[in-house]
Amino acid sequence: MPLQILLNGAKGRMGQTIAGVAGEMDAVIHAATDVGDNPAAHLAGCDVVIDFSAHSATRRLLELVVAKKKPVVIGTTGHSPVEKKRLRALAAKVPCVWAGNFSIGVNLLFALTRRAAAVLGADYDAEVIEMHHRYKKDAPSGTAARLLEIILEERKLAADALRHGRSGITGERPSTEIGVHALRGGDVVGDHTVLFAALGERVELTHKASDRAIFARGAVHAAHWVVKQKPGVYDMQDVLGLK
Ligand code: NAD
Repeated sequence: MPLQILLNGAKGRMGQTIAGVAGEMDAVIHAATDVGDNPAAHLAGCDVVIDFSAHSATRRLLELVVAKKKPVVIGTTGHSPVEKKRLRALAAKVPCVWAGNFSIGVNLLFALTRRAAAVLGADYDAEVIEMHHRYKKDAPSGTAARLLEIILEERKLAADALRHGRSGITGERPSTEIGVHALRGGDVVGDHTVLFAALGERVELTHKASDRAIFARGAVHAAHWVVKQKPGVYDMQDVLGLK
């Protein structure tokens, strides 16, 4: 019996891509919901919910899946750190995979970034640059936000170390600053570079996505995995065994 998916945000770019790959991955879209639809009406017959909609929709959706004890995969980004903390506490009541990026390559980039930040240390200025298509509604991307979290953790810095863009008389760059730059334009699916620059050398780690099917396949893969897990919030590092 193929995995029965309730897909929320079904009319969007990611929703349509997931619907396109599900059939080749032993899964079917049991129900497709978008703005104005009521996912509650379709929850009973599905095995798992996949959400790629809008950050404002996540709370309501999580309340519904928790009430019905359904596993869930959250791909939506754009939540503030405070919002995310509250929502994760709610999501932990069911098996939940929550990832800002479902690609295998980006999850490797997360692991490499942690290693590079640890080895290179505070003498290497860290900056994160991302580029996405002109239609993207949030910035920086969820993937950039995760890369920044990793660098902050390794450097033992708080979120106020982040510097979103620069303009005017900025003064010299303090070593405790982590720069963040969001570029937007055209049809770019998603580029991320983590840069570590010291006096005399520079290390750049770059991932470029050229087809959003990589995220869609990752999300369906996570859906197959999450239905076998105990309640808790997992990420793609768990799904891929990268921890
Ligand atoms: P999109 O704007 O093309 O699609 C979003 C869809 O969600 C639209 O059809 C919209 O009508 C619908 N929607 C909005 N509010 C809703 C609500 N309250 N209930 C139900 N549906 C609602 O966007 P997209 O490019 O498909 O991306 C969707 C989300 O996924 C964004 O947050 C994006 O950043 C994120 N994303 C995550 C990954 C990842 O790997 N985690 C990859 C790509 C995109």
